[in-house]
Amino acid sequence: MARVLIVGAGLTGSLCAALLRRETSGPLYLTVWDKAGDAGGRMTTASSPHNSQCTADLGAQYITCTPHYAKKHQSFYDELFAHGILKPLTSPIEGMVMKEGDCNFVAPQGVSSIIKHYLKESGAEVYFKQCVTQINLRNDKWEVSRETGCPKQFDLVVLTMPVPQILQLHGDITNLISECQRQQLETVSYSSRYALGLFYEAGTKIDVPWAGQYITSNPCVRFVSIDNKKRNIESSEIGPSLVIHTTVPFGVTYLEHKIEDVQELIFQQLENILPGLPQPIATKYQKWRYSQVTNAAANCPGQMTLHLKPFLVCGGDGFTQSNFDGCITSALCVLEALKNYF
Ligand SMILES: Cc1cc2nc3c(=O)[nH]c(=O)nc-3n(C[C@H](O)[C@H](O)[C@H](O)COP(=O)(O)OP(=O)(O)OC[C@H]3O[C@@H](n4cnc5c(N)ncnc54)[C@H](O)[C@@H]3O)c2cc1C
Repeated sequence: MARVLIVGAGLTGSLCAALLRRETSGPLYLTVWDKAGDAGGRMTTASSPHNSQCTADLGAQYITCTPHYAKKHQSFYDELFAHGILKPLTSPIEGMVMKEGDCNFVAPQGVSSIIKHYLKESGAEVYFKQCVTQINLRNDKWEVSRETGCPKQFDLVVLTMPVPQILQLHGDITNLISECQRQQLETVSYSSRYALGLFYEAGTKIDVPWAGQYITSNPCVRFVSIDNKKRNIESSEIGPSLVIHTTVPFGVTYLEHKIEDVQELIFQQLENILPGLPQPIATKYQKWRYSQVTNAAANCPGQMTLHLKPFLVCGGDGFTQSNFDGCITSALCVLEALKNYF
C-alpha cells in the first residue's frame, strides 16, 4: 500500500488529499500533517473562547468566481453549493471592486469549513501541531522528520506550504532541488499583513450600514468586516465578531515588532474608523508573514516536481495565484503529476 504524506492542511493540501482519494482505486495510506492546531491554513476561522459559534475568518474573506472559472471549476463550486458550504455573498461590502460577470460567495460556517469538507472527503488521517523540519532519502523512501515525534517513512510526499517555508526545510531535500528550480522558487514572493479578530458578547450592537468595508485613507487598516453579518448570521444568542486586516505597508513595517505594540497601534487606528466601538470579550491576532502571493513561480504548471523516484512534489498558491481558483488549479496540477506515479 502506497504511503502518502501531504504537508499542509490548507485549501491546496486538503483538496489534493480529497482528489487523490477519489482518483486512486487501490489501497492508499493517506495522511496530512500541519504545524497549526487546526485546519484551514490561510483560510482559517477563529472561534471565541467564550462561544465556539462566534467565529471570524482571519484570512480569506470571500470567494470571487470569474466567468472563466465558473465554467472551468464548475464541479468544485457545485459540490460546495450542494453541501451548503458556499452561499452567495449578499451583504454589502463597501469599496469592493467588482468586475462584470464575477460572483462572490461566503462560507456560512466560516471559510475553514471548505477545507474541513475536503479533509473529511479524503478520509485521510490528519495530524495537527506536526511541524515538518527535514526530508531525507532512505532506501528509496522519504523519511520525514518533524519537531516532535519520530521520523516516518513515505513513498510519496506533497508539500503545500508557502514556498519560503519549503526552502527552509533541511535534509537531503536541500540538495535535491536543482539550481534552476531553486532560482524559480526564490522568486516567489508574498505580501505580509496582520489580521485581528474581535469577539463580542451576545446582544452587542455594531451599528454600521455595511458588512464589510475597504478603507483607503488609513495607513494601518485596509479592511474591516462584521464577520457574522458578512455571512448573514445574526442571532440573539451569538455575539458579533469583527475582522480587521491591516495594510501591507503596515504589515511589512511592523512584521518583527512585539505583538502588544502592534495591537495597540491597530486599536488606535480602529478608534478613528469606528469611534466608540464596544470592548470585545476576546481577541485573536494573526500575523500573516506569507499573506498573498505577489509573484508566483515563473514557468510552472501549478506545481513543481522536485524528485521522481520516490515522488516529491510541491504545490499551492505560490505556483498559481492567491485565491480559491488558484489553489484548485494547483491541486489539479499536483494530481496530474501524481498520475505518473500510480
Ligand atoms: C489576509 C488574507 C486574505 C485573503 N483573502 C482572500 C479572499 O478573500 N479570497 C480568496 O480566494 N483568497 C484569499 N486569500 C488567499 C487564500 O487564503 C490563499 O490563497 C489560500 O488559502 C492558500 O492555500 P494553500 O493551501 O495553498 O496554503 P496555506 O493555506 O498557507 O496552507 C499551507 C499550510 O501548511 C502549513 N505549514 C507550513 N509550514 C509547515 C511545516 N513546516 N510543517 C507542517 N505544516 C506546515 C501551514 O500551517 C498551513 O496550514 C487571502 C489570504 C490572506 C492571508
